[in-house]
This record gives sequence, structure tokens and C-alpha cells, in this order.
Amino acid sequence: MSQVILRFAPSPTGHLHIGGARTALFNWLFARNQGGKFILRIEDTDQVRSTKESIDAILESMTWLGLDWDEGPIYQTDRLPLYREHVERLLREGKAYPCYCTPEELEERRQRALKEKQKPKYDGQCRSLKAPVPGRTCAIRFKAPQQGVTILRDLIKGTIEFENAELDDLIIQRSDGWPTYNFSAVVDDATMSITHVIRGDDHVNNTPRQILLYEAFGYPLPRFAHVPMILGADKTRLSKRHGATSVMSYKEMGYLPQALVNYLVRLGWSHGDQEVFSQKDLVEKFSLENVGKSAAVFNTEKLLWLNGLYIRQEKPEILGKLLLPFLEQRGFKPRSLVWLAEVTKNLQERSKTLLEMVDQAAFYFRDDFELDAKAAAKHLTPNVKEPLTILLARLESSPDLDEKGLEEIFQEIVTQKGLKLGAIAQAVRVALTGKAVSPGIYEVMKILGRDEVLKRLSRTLIKL
Ligand code: GLU
Repeated sequence: MSQVILRFAPSPTGHLHIGGARTALFNWLFARNQGGKFILRIEDTDQVRSTKESIDAILESMTWLGLDWDEGPIYQTDRLPLYREHVERLLREGKAYPCYCTPEELEERRQRALKEKQKPKYDGQCRSLKAPVPGRTCAIRFKAPQQGVTILRDLIKGTIEFENAELDDLIIQRSDGWPTYNFSAVVDDATMSITHVIRGDDHVNNTPRQILLYEAFGYPLPRFAHVPMILGADKTRLSKRHGATSVMSYKEMGYLPQALVNYLVRLGWSHGDQEVFSQKDLVEKFSLENVGKSAAVFNTEKLLWLNGLYIRQEKPEILGKLLLPFLEQRGFKPRSLVWLAEVTKNLQERSKTLLEMVDQAAFYFRDDFELDAKAAAKHLTPNVKEPLTILLARLESSPDLDEKGLEEIFQEIVTQKGLKLGAIAQAVRVALTGKAVSPGIYEVMKILGRDEVLKRLSRTLIKL
């Protein structure tokens, strides 16, 4: 079989959102699984709504997710002559015609049709015009067949039949000379030899119109695969009302791209009971047969769970690097990358996002925190004053200690003072971190380092 060619064709009218990212991912995975080509095409013919910021956001999001493309970005605005040529061709062959109806006239006729309980579609008034209407600009309409059926054999949805009588004479070129989406998409998909069009099922109703255009040109049809929508918890289509929907907002919230990719792929595709997939795994196992027919519900809890899992699996050095921008935002400066890796290693079991990790790591970077009042009242009591004083003295007279050395000192004090280890550990914990909960105290002490520990212990002791 010849090579498969896939494309992702976003309109740059906003951020890349979760639904678009999943479409991109499915196209990318299918292309990679089949050893095919993946093209990125920017559908920027809507001059009013397309922006440079959206293009940048789309490219940045794709790159962050690791979805690399073999060709592109190809901009539709660079291909206007190609669309014009195709319009000319249909005009020449009598398969398209100029339409001089104004928006006001169209609206008036639409309203009338609605009143008469007829389906509001273009009534074909300009179909048989013999000459241009003076003083008016024209759009170009496709002369769609008015009888018969158009059949979509969808790889996910199965066969869907559309009555041609239901379909309008579609505008293929607006009166300002710009092509419309259905037209430019067909010209591009055909001339780029796209073999498979995988996209959201909000496009199902466009597809019969596109099929008719392929047929008018005599271009072979690609295979279509329409993926069900993503819904919010209330079963309505996922939107901003449900919370963050742009890919970049997940980056900003401290998600790892692998976790988001893993989560997105499972929204609509499955491979047995498997939940966790490496990218390599996905490329090997992805197939369109296993894309589900029903809409998937976006589940933030599951995404968070997966993110926690990927954080736990990641190398501390890499986590450290990923943490840098988050630290910078707070003005936290790591002592070194090696030291930062110790911090991330210390916290990776407990953080589900990088943002959470920065919160939990704050005490490593600053000592001007307020002690949690309840924790201080409970654990920094007069009876720990003496044990803490001994500890301070022991630390002052010892070289920098490892965890084992620290544990020995704590044990000595326990034996000497008859106090529980927990009581001393909690007191030290509150003094060093400000809180009653933290990772293992010896580890915390080791990472903070002798000088910082001494400083924080003495400052607490003065107040006891
Ligand atoms: N620009 C269209 C969109 O963003 C592309 C649809 C398609 O894949 O054909 O929805």
C-alpha cells in the first residue's frame, strides 16, 4: 500500500484547545503508526478571526505535546492562486456559478421560507442567470446535484447517507474573493494527496458537501474518520465553562506533556484495559478501529492522577529543569541544578503537578515563612526546648551529616530525654518547614543543609 498522508488543519482563531489537540494527536499517531506523513496546515482564510498569536499558540502547543510534523506549517493564505484556479475550473465546466444575491436579500428569503415552514436553503435564484448583475459583486456557488444521495463511509461512524436535495448550493468563493472553508479544505486535501481525514464529528455535516466537490473535480476521496466530541462532566460539549480547555493552560498549571497526551488519547481510544502508555507504546498500538463511537467525558481527576504518575516516574534532574520556570515566577533561586534535583526527588512522590511541587518546595527556597499556628502550638511546646537545644549543639559540633548520622543523633536524644522520637521530629519539622507535614525529616535536613538547619532551629529556640 502506498504511504498514508495525514494532516491537522486548525483555524488560528484561538488557542489550541483540548479537542483540537486530541484531533492532532490521533492524526499524528495514525501517521506514525503507519510510517506515513503528517502535515500541519493552518486554515487562516478567515481574515477577521485569524491571528498571529493563535498561530504561535498552536505551534507552541503542538511542539510542547511532542507532535512533530513532516511538512508545514502550510498557510492557506499562501495558496490563494490555487483556490482561484479551482474556482475557475468549476466555472468553466459549468459546475459553479456567480451569485449576486446580497446578504439582505438572502436573509429576507430565508425568513420567508421559515415562515412557510420550508427548510431555509439557497433557492437557486442565480443558477440560471445569463449575464452579470451590474453594480454588484458576486460570490461563487457550487452547482450541487439536487437529486440522489451522497454516501459517507466513515471509518468510525459507519455509513451515513445524505439526501442531496437537503444540501445547498454552497458558496465556494465569497464576494471578497476569499475561498470558504469547505472549498479550500477540499482543494488542499486533494492536492496534498491526503489519504485520511481524521477530525471532530462537528464536521460530519460538511463532509457530504466536500464529497460532492471531490466528485466535481474528479479527485479520489480520502477516507474519513469523524471522532466523537469531548464533553464536560454535565455531558454538554466541553467549553470554557468546564474549566481550563487550552493546551497551554495545562502547561501553566504544571502538567507534563506525556501525561496530557496519555490522557487525551484515552478520551476516545482504548487498548484493552491499559491506561498508561509511553509515546512509543502509543505509536505501536494506535489504530482507528479502537476509536470509540460515543462521546467521551473529560475527567480532571483522572488527568491529575496520570500527571502524578508521570511526575513520580520522571528523573529528578528532568523534573528540576521543568520546575525552573515555576520557581522563577516566584523568585525562588535554586542553589544548583544538582541540589534542585535533590529537592524534586524529595517531593515527587507527593506532588501531582509541578505547581503543587513548587508550593511544597517553598520552604527550601525561603525562610521567611509564617509557622502554621496550629502546628506550632501543638508541636513547639516547652518540653521540646531541651531536646532541641541538645540537637542544635550536636549539629554545631558535627560536620555536615548524612541521614544516618542525623538519625543516630535523634535516637541519642530520645534515649537521653525519654521523649518519643515523633515529638522531636515534629518539633524540628515545624521549625524547619513551618508545617506539621513534610517529607522525611532527615532528608529535609540534609537537603536544607547544616547552616540553614542551624539558623532555623536557633531562631525557633529563642522563641520557645
Ligand atoms: N479548520 C477546520 C477546523 O479547525 C478544519 C476541519 C478539518 O479538519 O477539515 O475545524
